[in-house]
Amino acid sequence: ARKAGGDSLVTYGPELTAQTGERLDMEALLRHAIERDELELHYQPQQGLRDGRLMGFEALLRWRRMGQLISPADFIPMAEESGLIVPIGKWVIEEACRQGAEWHRETGAAVQVAINISPRQFAAPGFLAHLEGVLAATGVEPSSIELEITESVMVENAEMAIALLHRLRGLGLKLAIDDFGTGYSSLAYLSRFPIHKLKIDQSFVRNMHTVSEQSTIVQATISLGHSLGLTVIAEGVETEQQRTMLAAWRCDEIQGYCYARPLPAAMARRFIENGLHL
Ligand code: C2E
Ligand code: CA
Ligand code: CA
Ligand code: CA
Repeated sequence: ARKAGGDSLVTYGPELTAQTGERLDMEALLRHAIERDELELHYQPQQGLRDGRLMGFEALLRWRRMGQLISPADFIPMAEESGLIVPIGKWVIEEACRQGAEWHRETGAAVQVAINISPRQFAAPGFLAHLEGVLAATGVEPSSIELEITESVMVENAEMAIALLHRLRGLGLKLAIDDFGTGYSSLAYLSRFPIHKLKIDQSFVRNMHTVSEQSTIVQATISLGHSLGLTVIAEGVETEQQRTMLAAWRCDEIQGYCYARPLPAAMARRFIENGLHL
């Protein structure tokens, strides 16, 4: 297994790769991961560029198997294909809302928690009802929960997706478009999405200090977001130089290793307490 950076995630070699037979094994293992309590969420801090404050966290899924943390990149695509993403996604929503409510109780701060929602999960019957149930059961403040969806949810049935986004917004939730710029959505659609935030994908951020086209795309995305009244966050910000450029372009927030890596819940809790005193 090779290291994949971040919070010491491993990427599996032959034993868990997508070769047909082995893939079925992995599916079976993942099927039991929830009941065996092998899934956990790590939380990556997001920083406001105006004042350097902690703005919230993105919840990122990890699978703990035999002492190692497996990257979601290694199992989310398979979970998406097999449909396992639906029960896993439900678990993620329950855990992130439970954690957000607990932090609020314990620290007095309505800490923002962003949750990744896969396209299949978004389209599954009962998605909205489940979310409503979790909000009620955990008592979490809905405006402190943000759902990150990708542009691809719009491809299949845009009218239905937009209607669902309105319902979610009606619950008081925040909505973000994840991996912005990597999908297919047209600008005309974007203006019809009732969203709050754009997340600029890290593929644009990575080379923006050396490739002028990338920097043009990032600047244009920030202007576009602002002209639509949206908050703009850049992900995968690794260096001080990138942070400085983004601040100069009036990007609102950043997320990336130059601020903090994804943290286990207990460390995120300490981050909240320090962040509040900045
Ligand atoms: P994403 O939504 O684009 O999440 C950002 C990814 O970038 C995370 O990878 C994060 O650890 C990583 N990252 C953060 N800062 C930096 C940085 O400065 N440099 C670099 N190179 N990478 C950085 P991670 O945690 O491995 O997650 C990979 C993807 O798996 C996520 O990409 C997301 O699409 C998916 N994912 C994660 N958790 C969930 C989940 O609960 N549900 C669903 N459906 N998908 C999830
Ligand atoms: Ca995300
Ligand atoms: Ca991304
Ligand atoms: Ca994503």
